[in-house]
Amino acid sequence: MNTHTHSISNSKENLVAFDVLIIGGGLAGLCNAIHLSKFGTKVLLIEKNEYPKHKVCGEYISNEVLPYLQYLEIDPFRFGAVKLIPFNFQQQQIN
Ligand SMILES: Cc1cc2nc3c(=O)[nH]c(=O)nc-3n(C[C@H](O)[C@H](O)[C@H](O)COP(=O)(O)OP(=O)(O)OC[C@H]3O[C@@H](n4cnc5c(N)ncnc54)[C@H](O)[C@@H]3O)c2cc1C
Repeated sequence: MNTHTHSISNSKENLVAFDVLIIGGGLAGLCNAIHLSKFGTKVLLIEKNEYPKHKVCGEYISNEVLPYLQYLEIDPFRFGAVKLIPFNFQQQQIN
C-alpha cells in the first residue's frame, strides 16, 4: 500500500487528505474502499460513471462471499437477493 498521504481540495480551507486512491468503483473498488475505511484509512474512490449504473451480470451471489459481505456490513437480502439452497435432482423412471 502507498503510505504517502495525498490531498484534494477546491480551496485551501477545504483541504482533505487521503491515504489511498482507488480508480474504479466496481465490486473490487467498492469492497476495498469499505474494507480500508473500517481501519480508519481515508479513501478517495473515483468512478467514471454515475450510480446507480447498469452492469451486465448473472445476478448470482456466492454463499461463500456472504460472511465477507456481512463483515463489510452489506446485506444483499435487504435489496431483494434470494438465498441459494442446494438443488437436487431425484432420479425417476419414465415409462
Ligand atoms: C456477463 C457477466 C456476468 C457476471 N455475472 C456475475 C455473477 O452473477 N456473480 C458474480 O459474482 N460475478 C459475476 N460476474 C463477474 C463480476 O462482474 C466481476 O468479477 C466483477 O465485476 C469484477 O469487479 P471489478 O471491480 O474488478 O470490475 P468492474 O465491476 O468491471 O468495475 C470496474 C469499475 O471501474 C470503472 N472504471 C473503469 N475505468 C475507469 C476510469 N478510467 N476511471 C474511473 N473509473 C473507471 C468502471 O466504470 C467500473 O465501475 C460477471 C461478469 C460478466 C462479464
